[in-house]
Amino acid sequence: MKKVIIIRYGEIMLKGANKRFFEDKLVKHIRHAISDLGKPKVYKQHSRIYVDLENYDETQLIERIQKVFGITLISTAKKFEVDMDRIREEALKELQDRVNFDGVKTFKVISKRVDKNFPMQSLEISRDIGGYLLQNQEGIQVDVHNPDTVIYVEVREEAYVFSNKIMGLGGLPIGTNGKALLLLSGGIDSPVAGWMVGKRGVDIEAIHFHSYPFTSERAKEKVLDLAKILSIYVGEFKLYSINLLPIQKEINEKCPEEEATILSRRFMMMIAERVANKVNATGLITGESIGQVASQTIESLHVTNSAVAMPVFRPLIAMDKVDIIEIARKIDTFETSILPFEDCCTVFLPKRPATKPRLEKILRSEGKLDMEALIEDAIANMEVEKIRLGDI
Ligand code: ATP
Ligand code: MG
Repeated sequence: MKKVIIIRYGEIMLKGANKRFFEDKLVKHIRHAISDLGKPKVYKQHSRIYVDLENYDETQLIERIQKVFGITLISTAKKFEVDMDRIREEALKELQDRVNFDGVKTFKVISKRVDKNFPMQSLEISRDIGGYLLQNQEGIQVDVHNPDTVIYVEVREEAYVFSNKIMGLGGLPIGTNGKALLLLSGGIDSPVAGWMVGKRGVDIEAIHFHSYPFTSERAKEKVLDLAKILSIYVGEFKLYSINLLPIQKEINEKCPEEEATILSRRFMMMIAERVANKVNATGLITGESIGQVASQTIESLHVTNSAVAMPVFRPLIAMDKVDIIEIARKIDTFETSILPFEDCCTVFLPKRPATKPRLEKILRSEGKLDMEALIEDAIANMEVEKIRLGDI
């Protein structure tokens, strides 16, 4: 008998002729996610992926696999040759484990016969096993509607018995949907935004703006830490760092105070778009959400958005902060995000930021600046950091 992890994927099944491409990516990402835990065999078979457990730590492997985008369900199963007596025996052991470890009192059997040469149909198998379990285990009952545990039996080229179904994250495998550049601040929202777009299979790279030495080395470290957590899900990527301070100083000197934030937001977008073009990303991602702050009113978003031609993905646009925080906690970025280091936006924070900026007025202010030179300089001084998995 062998123990295997069974991995199921949902949406990939709908990909028709492209299914192979998605599956191969998924296998690659699963292998990568567990690569430092040894080299368990990972393989695809009939629209599922299997990982042979052998001597590996099941809990550790599952914890990793659970974070790979594109997976809907994970189970750990016993796998053995197809033989009805053996299936009964293994199903009983499985049930006994559930009784002893989880105290279950009710169960039901769900069977699936994939091998059509097997003489019994799915329902017959379930009935047979159910009867056998009732006869051989005391103190349990069948409950078809709301059982404490389900014993799953599958008859394929080999037989599988299992009783757990762990939820995966869903989504699509990274690298199946182009590339986008995430504007990553040190806050709560942008890591969540990157994670959400990554979940749709988009390759992510990130850009961060700081105002060093007005913002500290620690603030930079915090962004690096957030990037590392994100890389657990989206894989290794590059983080580009831009010093926005010269631009902020220039804005501060030449433009109305209340426009400082919106003007620097537009610079961020323009710089991000240029960097995206350089690295073959075809979209930008931000953590903006309608009405969250002055720079995220509908009017402000319009002005920010007008700075670029590239599509800007804003997955949090209609989400409430509590719901964003819930995701931040789930993906483990929250505790890092709330560390109290200053952000580049707070350096020249106007006392009364414009909440209804008008584009023509903002463009007039920009006319007072040597935009091209400022942007080119900022990019020329850009630093690049490679974010590797397992650096945490
Ligand atoms: P967050 O929690 O992500 O910091 P926020 O609520 O503080 O967001 P803003 O500061 O208005 O909102 O920023 C809106 C979005 O602009 C951020 O989600 C992020 O995508 C981008 N952004 C803001 N500041 C920076 C920065 N310093 N570097 C890179 N991107 C930034
Ligand atoms: Mg912020």
